[in-house]
Amino acid sequence: MTDNDALRRYLEQQREMGDLDFVLDTLTSREVAEKLKSVGRPDWRASLKTAGLDAERSPLATRGAAPTRAAAPIAKTLPEDEMKKKGKVVVDAEHTNEAIEKARSLKPIAEKVNSCKRCLLYTTATNGVPGEGDSKAQVVIVGEAPGANEDETGLPFVGAAGGLLTKILESVNLSREEVFITNVVKHRPPGNRNPTPDEVEACSPYLIRQLELIKPKVIIAFGNFAAQTLLGTKDGIGKLRGTVHTYHGTPLVVTYHPAALLRNPNWKRPTWEDVKLARRVLDNAQGA
Ligand code: SF4
Repeated sequence: MTDNDALRRYLEQQREMGDLDFVLDTLTSREVAEKLKSVGRPDWRASLKTAGLDAERSPLATRGAAPTRAAAPIAKTLPEDEMKKKGKVVVDAEHTNEAIEKARSLKPIAEKVNSCKRCLLYTTATNGVPGEGDSKAQVVIVGEAPGANEDETGLPFVGAAGGLLTKILESVNLSREEVFITNVVKHRPPGNRNPTPDEVEACSPYLIRQLELIKPKVIIAFGNFAAQTLLGTKDGIGKLRGTVHTYHGTPLVVTYHPAALLRNPNWKRPTWEDVKLARRVLDNAQGA
């Protein structure tokens, strides 16, 4: 691993932990360094030097400079106003909040997702990914948004991260078939960027209705984004995990996203502790 990769990985870890936001495209190198310092890296100058970056002339410093590749817009869509003018964002009678709330089973919700134009994500995605699993599941898994494999297949949590999710569930005697797996947002954001607040808001009636219909005994939010969105907080996983929260009255446990575990195997142990907590919540609910 190169030094720059090491720094990138460190910043990604902080983002996944959710304890701090890093907006690299507008920060000076000094500000980035101060942020590193503020998260417990008093040796921030050495950290940057180790990563091959000059603390005062870092390539991360872009204020007033041309946008870096990382800062360039990822979305390939037109500006939203322009898209609306072209009729690309459409909330027709089949896709109003009321129509989604009236869906009587998961199947019509999936159909609505697959024909949805409530936000722009459908314009760049290949497939909608409504979710899959038992319609009477006692455990619902919620991730952030589909990735490339999910977009290609229309199925949630496939590929390496999906395989790891299967193993995580099996570690507490749950199979994929007996849970329901879905995401906060049902179409893949371009370049795997985080969904915007508008996209989350547009998509939220689907998840809310799915949970109303399934009535799970426990929800497990995988990843920082899903946890923060469902709980309406900016706290990161480091603060949120280890506690039973509630989402619309349903117990909710937070843990790391399997994709993050692939990059950071040290988080496997705490993840196992979290899913064991979810298992205990389930066992208690079943015994009640
Ligand atoms: S992400 Fe959600 S709101 Fe946006 S188009 Fe897809 S289903 Fe509709």
